[in-house]
Amino acid sequence: MEYFAGEYDVVVIGAGHAGCEAALACARMGVRTLVTAINLDSIAMMACNPSIGGPAKGNLVRELDALGGEMGINTDKTMLQVRMLNTKKGPAVRSLRAQVDKKQYQDRMKYILECQENLSIKQAEVIKINYEEGKVVSIVTHLGAVFKCKCVIVASGTYLRGKIVIGEISYDGGPNGLFPAMKLSDSLEQIGINLRRFKTGTPARIDSRTVVFEQMSEQPGDQDINTFSFLTGDIDLDQLPCYLTYTNENTHKVIRENLHRSPLYTGDIVGVGPRYCPSIETKIISFPDKEAHQIFIEPEGVFTREMYVQGMSSSLPEDVQIAMIQSIEGLKEAHITRPAYAIEYDCIDPTQLNLTLESKLLSGLYFAGQINGSSGYEEAAAQGIVAGINAALKVQNKEPLILDRSEGYIGVLIDDLVTKGTDEPYRMMTSRSEYRLVLRQDNGDLRLTQKGYDIGLVTDERYNRFIEKKRIIEKEIDRLKMRRVTSTDNVVKFLEKYQSAEIKGGISLYELLKRPEITYFNLSEIDDEFAYLSREAGEQVETQIKYEGYIKKQLSQVEQFRKLENKKLRFIDYMDIKGLSIEAQQKLNKIKPDNLGQASRISGVSPADISVLMVYIEQMRRSRRSDTIE
Ligand SMILES: Cc1cc2nc3c(=O)[nH]c(=O)nc-3n(C[C@H](O)[C@H](O)[C@H](O)COP(=O)(O)OP(=O)(O)OC[C@H]3O[C@@H](n4cnc5c(N)ncnc54)[C@H](O)[C@@H]3O)c2cc1C
Repeated sequence: MEYFAGEYDVVVIGAGHAGCEAALACARMGVRTLVTAINLDSIAMMACNPSIGGPAKGNLVRELDALGGEMGINTDKTMLQVRMLNTKKGPAVRSLRAQVDKKQYQDRMKYILECQENLSIKQAEVIKINYEEGKVVSIVTHLGAVFKCKCVIVASGTYLRGKIVIGEISYDGGPNGLFPAMKLSDSLEQIGINLRRFKTGTPARIDSRTVVFEQMSEQPGDQDINTFSFLTGDIDLDQLPCYLTYTNENTHKVIRENLHRSPLYTGDIVGVGPRYCPSIETKIISFPDKEAHQIFIEPEGVFTREMYVQGMSSSLPEDVQIAMIQSIEGLKEAHITRPAYAIEYDCIDPTQLNLTLESKLLSGLYFAGQINGSSGYEEAAAQGIVAGINAALKVQNKEPLILDRSEGYIGVLIDDLVTKGTDEPYRMMTSRSEYRLVLRQDNGDLRLTQKGYDIGLVTDERYNRFIEKKRIIEKEIDRLKMRRVTSTDNVVKFLEKYQSAEIKGGISLYELLKRPEITYFNLSEIDDEFAYLSREAGEQVETQIKYEGYIKKQLSQVEQFRKLENKKLRFIDYMDIKGLSIEAQQKLNKIKPDNLGQASRISGVSPADISVLMVYIEQMRRSRRSDTIE
């Protein structure tokens, strides 16, 4: 029996990593929002690895933070260990990765939602989305509650028609023993949304009292603590270590002898899995000559003995899991607290969405997170904030926010999903971006804070810090350009100390800093007006000076890119355009690209088709102008 339960501007279905960011963005932009979850104790649950960040994922978190999101701050408040990865490589691929206390992460995020003005949270399974005349009008929960609303954001993760598979056993289920969502898929299909099956898997958890850590190598965190949020600043952290061990021939033998019981190979699993997070059985099959695979034993939290067995994701039967884990050095007596499992779930084809993450089929219907075919907390959160922002802007009748590929990894992520689609869970990687040197993790705030402020999500406190940091960096770069040193004794000693070539006559500190062996903070030894900027700002000054040439080159490529991005494509029936290939006509009518740049990235649309389109746009522009002149 349905009953009217209330009215909101936006209803967010799901309080996972996508749903939390979407709900907070809407509420912080002043829009009345309801966020639902099947179980409120699973808000922001980390169903898989207890870590945030890593290559490209760290960039997403920093960008989301700059826009006014919560994941970065929440990670800084609940991290157990932190490491800057790829420090020996260039700034374009350096990335932060933190081990996080899962329970504290969830508890703090739940509390942030509970304290947020304009936001209500509700434990309920949404089973239906109602619409009229092509617009969303309300949702219905499993208890018959009808909530009227202008927008709905579906952020249902891995729950839709969730199926757990462990060896020969499978059953309807959500992650971590939670209920699945078995009804919403029907409602989405009824709207006309195409669904497909993806799968992902997680490794077992083990009891740390049964692990012999002495037989493993300890992996400590960094001395210098970096943080994700540009608001956090320096923190002290009593870090917990991770541990490294390896599989061996016995492990591989156990797996090979039981492959006939693996649902991956018996066909019980039909969903497509993540290429870059393969199960251990897939690794053994794909790399038969590899003698050992790395296994990291990671803490899940301060107040738990459970540890995560990174690298052993699997869906083999539990008895096989025990044998394979107990074949590993340091784990011979390990007790499995939670078995590894695979989960199959419904997700949508994201090419059914616009760059705003709104459905092309139904106005006011948005999708974010794993439901869009991505994989990972960071990818989900990044989509969540964009869907939330755009639902709020729609309610406020304002222009939507579209981040393009040159503005952030968030732009790359969404463009890849909605323009190219994905046939397997999509994971962000630095190689997916054409502009890695511009989209570094260290300058996320300089790239995106202004946008977050303009749409009303970034607070004055964050904005003022950004403006001040920007001013300080620009002022210091100008100062270094003007400040010159000559080969005084002090400077000569300095250059010898850093094995840097001698100077003839004078040189600006700006030019000196271009030398790879000299760091910004070294300059304090020869510059009595040294500004002693914060580590973050100093890092900015150094990177912008050292990579000036490369950054300039990439920015000119961005300019070229933007020329095509700014050529908007509106209300075109591509079947009418002669000269386009039939494949291009069909693909363009399906994707309905926002602009010429997006059109050029659709597979099957050739450069020849783009030339035809450019001519067509020009003809249209001229005919419109002649119409207005008449
Ligand atoms: C077993 C497993 C293994 C994973 N392995 C990896 C991995 O190896 N690498 C990786 O990068 N990522 C992995 N992930 C993915 C990672 O957990 C997700 O990417 C991330 O959690 C997605 O966030 P999300 O917000 O889209 O969805 P989720 O975090 O799944 O949250 C979905 C939310 O929607 C709610 N919900 C669902 N349906 C309804 C409904 N009808 N009504 C109301 N509420 C609803 C749920 O209660 C929940 O709050 C794994 C996930 C699982 C479950």
